[in-house]
Amino acid sequence: MEEELGMLKEKHLYRRLKVLESAQNSHVRYQGRDMLMLASNSYLDFCNDERVKEYALNVLLEYGTGSGGSRLTTGTMKIHMELEEALARFKGREAAMVFNTGFAANSGILPALCGEGDIIYSDARNHASIIDGCKMSKADTVVYQHNDMADLERKILEHPGRWGLIVSDGVFSMDGDIVDLPELVRLADTYGLLSMIDEAHATGVIGTTGRGCEEYFHMEGKTDILMGTLSKAIGAEGGYVCGSHTLIEYLKNKARSYIFSTSLSPVTMAAAKKALELIEENPWRVQRLQENVHWFCRCLQEQGIVADSDTAIIPIGIGEEEKALQVSERLAQQGYFIPAIRYPTVRKGEAMLRAALMATHTKEELAKAAQAIGEAIRLSR
Ligand SMILES: *Cc1c(COP(=O)(O)O)cnc(C)c1O
Repeated sequence: MEEELGMLKEKHLYRRLKVLESAQNSHVRYQGRDMLMLASNSYLDFCNDERVKEYALNVLLEYGTGSGGSRLTTGTMKIHMELEEALARFKGREAAMVFNTGFAANSGILPALCGEGDIIYSDARNHASIIDGCKMSKADTVVYQHNDMADLERKILEHPGRWGLIVSDGVFSMDGDIVDLPELVRLADTYGLLSMIDEAHATGVIGTTGRGCEEYFHMEGKTDILMGTLSKAIGAEGGYVCGSHTLIEYLKNKARSYIFSTSLSPVTMAAAKKALELIEENPWRVQRLQENVHWFCRCLQEQGIVADSDTAIIPIGIGEEEKALQVSERLAQQGYFIPAIRYPTVRKGEAMLRAALMATHTKEELAKAAQAIGEAIRLSR
């Protein structure tokens, strides 16, 4: 272990925790100072929202901290059911179920649906939890080129008559690009495959009212399996899947990560439910987030930086690993929390800064940040 850790350090791949000294807001306290947070997945800034906290606090006082069992034994309370109903409604589906994390959802859903002899077609840049779910399923996994539907169709045609599933991130977590959903669904329908989209970075972010990929492409109800997480824009914890009654009943009986794990605490469920309600009542946060993204991209372009995104994730290409670290470090000194993403998360020599915006960032903060990023890049040349 020590040898392996030493090697990671030598290759600059050793990972350290960054400990925050405040709640997850658009500003955080880190190493004793105020930083503008430009890296959080809490896109709608719900992690520390007053109305969410007040509602969760009431549920906490009534129902306590733990759930006391797995969902199918003693761990289902009213609030679990209410959240699932709210999720199904939000996503326009018959039913929904909550897993303990998005990771547990993917690693539970895929092995429940596919097994030996089946095929899973998986995008080359899918999230690690999808990759693990594929492995656990024992189905043959065929990886197609990133968001390349022609390559996907070629690969489907190489396996005539085999049943299975196509799975893709809705919004890809490193590049912030969006799946070609119309074409993916067309291929699934044409070849009799299930379609599954991971909306971890799409829910609360894309579509006019934050409902995700289907709303973005105006193709509501067309995907078979909509999976996502409550830990990002929703600001709580937990994974979920939405679909037909049959799908959800099947998964409740078959998904091992759902069956054999203690369910999430009522407090967490309450926080997610309230955040969803707030989005449904008034999606101003979603709209503010989308405005911020377009504004920030324009500010970056004025600095001569290539930046273009429709999601909360804005990659800023740097290149050399060391240079990316330098830029990130320089920005940290000026109070900007924006990490360098390096190999193996992205390819060697393609290191980048990964900016992630929040609905509550102000235009002025973002303009200043873009300027600081431009300067830091110029200075590190
Ligand atoms: C974050 C993420 C997950 C995992 O969700 P958690 O709730 O954090 O476990 C799954 N898929 C994608 C695409 C993600 O970005």
